[in-house]
Amino acid sequence: MQFHEQLTNWYEENKRDLPWRRTRDPYRIWLSESILQQTRVAQGLPYYERFIMRFPSVEALATASEDEVLKSWQGLGYYSRARNLHKAARILAAECGGEFPRSYDFIRALPGVGDYTAAAIVSFAFDMAYPVVDGNVIRFMCRLHGIFEEATSSACKKQISSILQKEIVLSRPGLFNQAVMEFGALACTPLSPLCKREPPQAELFPGFPARNSPGRPGSHTRLESGPKGGALCPFAGICHAFRHDVVSQLPVKKKKEALTLQELHYLLIADSEGIWVRKRGYDDLWRGMFDLPTLPERHSGLESNKSLETGSGRGSRSKKRGSGASGLSAFQGTGYLAENLGATQEGLRFLKHYTQTLSHRRLSIFFYELDARSALAKQVLATEQGCQKIAYQEIGNLAVPKNIEKFFADFESRFQGG
Ligand code: SF4
Repeated sequence: MQFHEQLTNWYEENKRDLPWRRTRDPYRIWLSESILQQTRVAQGLPYYERFIMRFPSVEALATASEDEVLKSWQGLGYYSRARNLHKAARILAAECGGEFPRSYDFIRALPGVGDYTAAAIVSFAFDMAYPVVDGNVIRFMCRLHGIFEEATSSACKKQISSILQKEIVLSRPGLFNQAVMEFGALACTPLSPLCKREPPQAELFPGFPARNSPGRPGSHTRLESGPKGGALCPFAGICHAFRHDVVSQLPVKKKKEALTLQELHYLLIADSEGIWVRKRGYDDLWRGMFDLPTLPERHSGLESNKSLETGSGRGSRSKKRGSGASGLSAFQGTGYLAENLGATQEGLRFLKHYTQTLSHRRLSIFFYELDARSALAKQVLATEQGCQKIAYQEIGNLAVPKNIEKFFADFESRFQGG
């Protein structure tokens, strides 16, 4: 039996039942692939279902406002995905009547669509022979073929793509791509690949027709290397990593970049009518979303600390981890700010400290309450761009970053009408 047949047989027996697998609608496939980038299936599933209910077609997404789209995406992170979906839907509506053309090149040129997403859409929806190369596929293929290129490099992806191209044309492209992705996701996993798992006792019992016995579909030669001999993996007999006992060394990972540490100092300024929020600019983190006004740096008590580099916006400071500076540690607890800063600024009171880790940065986030009548509040609201007052009942309609959502939830009783 050929590789593509073994793989698709395995898939038919083991695949998960997921809503986007029950459709060939390119819009739904595109949406599911966009959600699943950087997001686990269990977390992405409810978002997918809500998004489809709210925006059932390209046309519906194209005519929505960006605020509505961001609000539906809230909590998933990587908000550029939502903004790109929205932009691409407008292009499809304007140029193709809301339909996806059967063209890899057109789809690949849409905002936010890379090689992987374009291949997924055209293969799943139209059975066009473009192989998908995502993280799961890379891991499986690097191990199977003994590829020692760094996993995210273009050399590695090119090599894998050309191997898969030869197989995909022999099979049904959509089915083949689903199968290779699913095998990477469920079987050739990072820490517990099939070849390292304990087979059921029946498979080891002499005389029982074991999965790898000769003549049985998916059979392979039982090897000595590895404690369980790879009995559960149909590809153990041809897998380079398994045969050479280098499974844990593949795929070759890139060295992790140092995390940037960044502080944010948010101000809760409110009166009986509502609270002041800030719409973030289009050139920074969480662009286009709403958060709160921030404390000017000269009031944060940090200006004398030369070891911290200035962050991307007012009220934020950042530095690379491991630069040798010790300043940040002084602010990681809440004690310093509560005791020193709150006591020296009239009308300012420390409320809460959170931390949040994003892909390349770790945030240390401080929230304070500031009396709306104070001179500092007047100064902040007069100088910081994008500030506006909203009624308490409107808070739930705003697209906000995760840390602001958490703050609103933790202090819910404060936002019930002043
Ligand atoms: S033998 Fe192990 S490493 Fe090789 S493909 Fe199977 S599960 Fe992956």
